[in-house]
Amino acid sequence: MRQLLSKKKVYSKIALLFCVMAVVGFISNSLLPALLILSVALLLWHYHHLFILDKWLWQDRKLSPPLTEGIWGKLFEAIYYQQRKERRKQAQLYQVIRRFRDGAEALSQAIIVLNKDWSLVWSNKLAQHFIGISWPQDEGQRLHNLIRHPNFLLFIQQHNFTKTLELVSPVNEQLMLEFTVSAYGTEQYLLTIRDISQIKLLEQVRKDFVANVSHELRTPLTVLRGYLELMDDNSATNTKVWQQAQSVMLEQTKRMDGLVQQLLTLSQIEATTKVQFEPKVDVPAMLAQLKLEATSLNSEKQHKLSFSIDNSLMVMAISEELRSAFANLVSNAIKYTPAGGDIQVSWQRDNLSATFSVIDNGEGIAPQHVKRLTERFYRVDQARARNTGGTGLGLAIVKHILSRHKSRLIIASERGKGSCFSFTLPAELVLSD
Ligand code: ADP
Repeated sequence: MRQLLSKKKVYSKIALLFCVMAVVGFISNSLLPALLILSVALLLWHYHHLFILDKWLWQDRKLSPPLTEGIWGKLFEAIYYQQRKERRKQAQLYQVIRRFRDGAEALSQAIIVLNKDWSLVWSNKLAQHFIGISWPQDEGQRLHNLIRHPNFLLFIQQHNFTKTLELVSPVNEQLMLEFTVSAYGTEQYLLTIRDISQIKLLEQVRKDFVANVSHELRTPLTVLRGYLELMDDNSATNTKVWQQAQSVMLEQTKRMDGLVQQLLTLSQIEATTKVQFEPKVDVPAMLAQLKLEATSLNSEKQHKLSFSIDNSLMVMAISEELRSAFANLVSNAIKYTPAGGDIQVSWQRDNLSATFSVIDNGEGIAPQHVKRLTERFYRVDQARARNTGGTGLGLAIVKHILSRHKSRLIIASERGKGSCFSFTLPAELVLSD
């Protein structure tokens, strides 16, 4: 427990000093000079300690007080005690601020504290990444000087913060950001910014998907409708027209059916997250069956088809999906290679893994198309692919299937020479001999 200076003790000490000095002065017959000497000595002693205090407070780096006895010693000790208390409080406050900042930095949103005049008080590091604002360099800067987009200016002028604002990042045009403002304390705003690029992208993918499906279905439906309307008109119903109509209608119906089938396959693959691998899929038998189907598909184009199959190569897989991937790649080669081409299908061991490949000597695909082939509804030549009955979904399905089999589609193609579509199943899915 700290003790206050005792007035009684201090005054009695001074009184005692003066009494002793008075006695000494009286004896030596110089009372006044003796008292004066004592007063000056006391004054000098106090000034001496004042200088020590001044030096300690302003110059000394150390916290511990100067070593002194008496009332100054107690005073120094009291100041030292207060200083330590203050430092402890500061350290606690610093910890609280640190914890708050660490929390704000850990958020996936940019956080910006602003004064009512939109001048920057504080921001976390993500603010730099999102809108190029960094604290403390930009402290005191008005936000509308830093973000000069007209929509942002309008947003803060309108003062309706129940709404949010969507804006492309001023520092990275790939980022789509959502701004939200809320009152913070009485005199400040809290601006939070989150990255919504992914959400926007998914929204776009969904819109594109719906637009593509509608577009794909509209063409055959228009054809069917045209012929059905013609049916009403009796004059046009001669046998020749009907024969033609029937074959076109059949073809268009098949096309719609194919599209719906592909869509169902795609949604089925996407919907089933828990995949059940069959312990042993007899791929050689599967490919033998596929060879028969390919031969029948090849009747029109008369390509030279050759299959090179390792009959001992079995794998763990989702057989129906694997069959669909094989069939897609083989039928594409048949469809897109000009008549009389050369198509080689191979299923072979590759060290401990298994590789499937389809090589054709067709027209090949330009590099700018190759990287987009697995996008849904992407076709190199829209019109031609549609004529061949293609939906543009085949390779998207293959890509999905392969990713579930820990593999990916590799496309090597050269214009005028042909293409090679291949994939390798990892050793963990391949059964040993
Ligand atoms: P589609 O149903 O149109 O065949 P895919 O997704 O299977 O859709 O193929 C996408 C596009 O890739 C095709 O429209 C075609 O332009 C191109 N393509 C696929 N395989 C080959 C190939 N072997 N040779 C040349 N182009 C190909």
